[in-house]
Amino acid sequence: MAELLGSIDQGTTSSRFMVFNPAGEEIAKAQMEHDQILPRQGWVEHNPEEIISNTEKVIEEALKSAGLEGKDLVAIGITNQRETTLLWERATGKPVCNALVWQDTRTDRIIAEIEGKEQSEIIRSKAGLPPATYFSGGKIRWILDKYPELESRAKKGEILFGNMDTWVIWNLTGGKNGGLHLTDITNASRTMLMNLETLAWDRELCDIFRIPMAMLPEIRPSSGSFGETLSSGPFQANLPIMGVLGDQQAATVGQACFAAGEAKNTYGTGNFMLSNTGSRIIPSRSGLLTTPCYQLSGKPAVYALEGSIAVTGSAVQWLRDQLGLISGAAEIESLANTVEDNGGVYFVPAFSGLFAPYWRSDARGAVVGLTRYANKGHLARATLEAICYQTKDVLGAMNKDSGIDLQIMKVDGGATVNNTLMQLQADILGVPVVRPLVTETTALGAAYAAGLASGVYTSPDDLKNNWKEDRLWEPVWSSDQREAGYSQWKKAVKRTLDWTNGN
Ligand code: ADP
Repeated sequence: MAELLGSIDQGTTSSRFMVFNPAGEEIAKAQMEHDQILPRQGWVEHNPEEIISNTEKVIEEALKSAGLEGKDLVAIGITNQRETTLLWERATGKPVCNALVWQDTRTDRIIAEIEGKEQSEIIRSKAGLPPATYFSGGKIRWILDKYPELESRAKKGEILFGNMDTWVIWNLTGGKNGGLHLTDITNASRTMLMNLETLAWDRELCDIFRIPMAMLPEIRPSSGSFGETLSSGPFQANLPIMGVLGDQQAATVGQACFAAGEAKNTYGTGNFMLSNTGSRIIPSRSGLLTTPCYQLSGKPAVYALEGSIAVTGSAVQWLRDQLGLISGAAEIESLANTVEDNGGVYFVPAFSGLFAPYWRSDARGAVVGLTRYANKGHLARATLEAICYQTKDVLGAMNKDSGIDLQIMKVDGGATVNNTLMQLQADILGVPVVRPLVTETTALGAAYAAGLASGVYTSPDDLKNNWKEDRLWEPVWSSDQREAGYSQWKKAVKRTLDWTNGN
């Protein structure tokens, strides 16, 4: 039998387990959604016990569906929603409370206290991140403030912190009976507590949030040993866990972006572009995040610049749910194709301000350039163009920060099924856009990390050959058309700024 690799993808809306053969082809898959717990405006929680139970179920189901057993796998990898924060008791495995999800904004006061102060600059320069509610450090502080009796126990290592990767590893390797308390550099980097250069927890950063270092997991390279699963667990075998990566970094590996200057862009609810910058840590002056991309055991870390856009696919959902212009997301393509161009209409979906590269919380959405001629087809087209223009803004920041011009854009994610969107993206960027055959790049990336550490692959070069093109779009717009469109977009963005006056 071929050497098979398993991959646990513990995502924001669901957990899935997939099995791949060495060619990167899918052999088995099972997926289960979990509850999104929304106790108040701005709060988003997950039940960690539900997540573990679902993870175990999808492992068993996927193996069964393909007639496989755990012992048929060489190794497994784990990828996960990043930043989502959990504290639990080492002796019992009981979570202190629900996990605080990355979208949760309850830590805004903790962050506001830091903003504009020296600590903010320390976080930027050491962790590569602007202080934000998005990251784990403030969330740990919030839980410790809410349950003050935990702090002294956290100092003794009785209360543990983990993101979802750490929680899954701890449970699979023994839980309260000696489970391993581990994470990888990509997950650790999203806490605001890890130093990008040393790839270790940083005392000064931990002091800013008053986080006891004894509660933090050990940080390891993304591709290497993370212990073995228990034979009494869902695999019914002692399987080595050999790869761990945060979801966006895993997708970058799954897309085989191993050389500096290679980038992938994931089109989901929002968009996340990561550009490999090799061994260089490039501080962003253009509104991007500096983040580790991956690290193979015994090798130096590879870094990336990341551009996060809040609203892309969710603008399509808005046309569907709020305006009722379409009944399903896929319909936007035919509606956009009822017109030849945007008819002069630009839509900036700054529903919750603008993220990368603007970071303007005072912006709000706008549709501009309307005339009596404009119809719903133009609005549909302007929505697709908005996804592409926001991507162009982020790519401009990438090129500026890295000094490397992107040659080709590799894409993945739910919205990349839209061929019209992909052609528009190539036209607006002036760079070819390419979609791979396997679009489950997140799970694939974690399997690759495990395969590299377990000897299924000898080097990332093996993986490059696995990457197969499904379709490529070449730009067809003239450069005059491209420049004219982009300058209108920039004007439209200006119209959205300074709208809420900081409220
Ligand atoms: P996530 O991982 O963030 O949940 P997915 O990768 O599953 O997202 O992609 C879902 C998003 O893609 C939704 O916001 C949806 O509106 C958008 N989407 C799905 N199909 C299309 C389509 N044909 N054209 C444009 N957007 C689409």
